[in-house]
Amino acid sequence: MPATRGADVLVIGAGILGLWAARHALRAGRSVIVVDEGQAGAGASGGFLGALMPHMPDRWNAKKQFQFNCLDSIEESIRELEADTGIDCGFRRCGRLMPLTHEGMRGHAQVRIAGARANWQGRYSMELVEPPIVDRGWLDPQSAPFGAVFDALSARVDPRAYGSALREFVAGAGALTEGARVTALEPAAGRAVLADGSSIAAATIVVAAGWRAYDLLRPFLEPLNDGRPAGRGVRGQAVLVEFAHDDNLPIVYHDGVYVVPHAGNRVAIGSSSHDKWDGAPDAFDPADMDFYHRALKLAPALRDAPVIGRWAGVRPRNTFEPAMRAALGGEMERLSISAEQGSLPPPPTGPADPYFGPVPGHENLIALIGGFKITFGVAHRAMAALSQ
Ligand SMILES: Cc1cc2nc3c(=O)[nH]c(=O)nc-3n(C[C@H](O)[C@H](O)[C@H](O)COP(=O)(O)OP(=O)(O)OC[C@H]3O[C@@H](n4cnc5c(N)ncnc54)[C@H](O)[C@@H]3O)c2cc1C
Repeated sequence: MPATRGADVLVIGAGILGLWAARHALRAGRSVIVVDEGQAGAGASGGFLGALMPHMPDRWNAKKQFQFNCLDSIEESIRELEADTGIDCGFRRCGRLMPLTHEGMRGHAQVRIAGARANWQGRYSMELVEPPIVDRGWLDPQSAPFGAVFDALSARVDPRAYGSALREFVAGAGALTEGARVTALEPAAGRAVLADGSSIAAATIVVAAGWRAYDLLRPFLEPLNDGRPAGRGVRGQAVLVEFAHDDNLPIVYHDGVYVVPHAGNRVAIGSSSHDKWDGAPDAFDPADMDFYHRALKLAPALRDAPVIGRWAGVRPRNTFEPAMRAALGGEMERLSISAEQGSLPPPPTGPADPYFGPVPGHENLIALIGGFKITFGVAHRAMAALSQ
C-alpha cells in the first residue's frame, strides 16, 4: 500500500481556480498539496482568450457585486503575483465595445449605462458611442449600425502567462504534484484517494478540477440535485492570429463572439460552445470555425491576419436543479459571493452560475466550479477565505 501524504489543504486541479486557492493558502502559512492529473494549466485555463468582462450592470445583485469587486481588484492581485514571480501576465484594462445591431438595443443600452452609473461606484464608465463608429479601433462601422456600447471596466489577461506565474509561485513553494489523478473523495475521513492507490490526508479538500469536478463530486452533489448530474462540460474553440497593433484596442464582443487584443501583435478570437463532441476534448476541430468567420465580419482588419494558434477546451457549466439551488441557498452566507456584499439580494444561483464554497453537508469539502465567461475575472477572490 503506497504511503499516505498529508497537508492542511489539498487542492485537486491546477487550473486558474486551484492555483489561486493554493496561493492564498500558502500565503497564509498553511501546508498545501496541489495535484493535477496532467500538467498545471493544461485544462480550460490554458487557452488564449483571457477576456475579463463584467455582467451587465442593470438588475444588480450579489453576484454582480462580487464580480465587480473582483474586476476592480484584479489588477492589484496580478501586479503582486508578477512581483512575486517576475512573470508578466499580460494584463491590460482595455475596455470592451459591443455593437448595437438594431434600434431596440439602444434602449437596453441606456438602461445598462444607468446601471453602470449607479453600481460601478463612479470608477468605470459605460457610454453609448453613436454611429458611425470610426474612432474605436477595429470595429467595422457596418457591424454597428445603431452605434455601440463601450465600457471601461473590461480587461484582458494572457491566460497562459497568468497560469505560468501562478504555477511558478505554487511549484516554487514545493506544493505542486503533476501527473497525479484523484479517483475518489472521502471527506468524512479527510482523505482523497489517487489512481496509484495512495491517499492524501487534508483538513480541507478543495475540488478545482474544472468540468471533471462533477465526476469527483457526484456522490455528494447528485443527492442534492434530484439525482441528476450537477453540471456538464461545454466544449469550445478559439484561435490566435498575428496582427500588428499598438495594444490600445478594446475587446469587441457580440453574441458570443470575442475579439481580444493581446500584447505582442496577437489577437485571440473565440469561441464556440458544444455540449457534445467526438474525439478528444482538446482536439481542435477545423470544421468548427463559425465564430472565427463571424469575428472577421466584426473586425475585417483581421481578414489577412495569419492564424498562429488553435485551441479547444472544455469549461464547466453548472446545471443545478431547484433542489440543489435550495440546498446551496442555505449555504450562501458562507460563500465568497455573499461574504463580499451586505444587504443585496442573493445571487440567483441560476443553472450556469459558478459555485465557490463548501459542499452542503461536508464542511471540509470545498467545490470551486467556474461559470461561463466569468472565471478568469474572479479566480483571485473565489477562495480568498483560505487566506484567513
Ligand atoms: C473556448 C473557451 C474560451 C473561454 N474564454 C474565457 C474567457 O475569455 N474568460 C473567462 O473568464 N473564461 C473563459 N473560459 C472559461 C475558463 O477557461 C474556465 O472557466 C476556467 O479555465 C476554468 O478553470 P478551472 O481552474 O476551474 O479548470 P481547468 O483549467 O480545467 O483546471 C482543472 C484542472 O484539474 C485537473 N483535473 C481534472 N480532474 C482531475 C482529477 N481527478 N485529479 C487531478 N486533477 C484533475 C485537470 O487536469 C486540469 O488541469 C473559456 C473557456 C473555453 C473552453
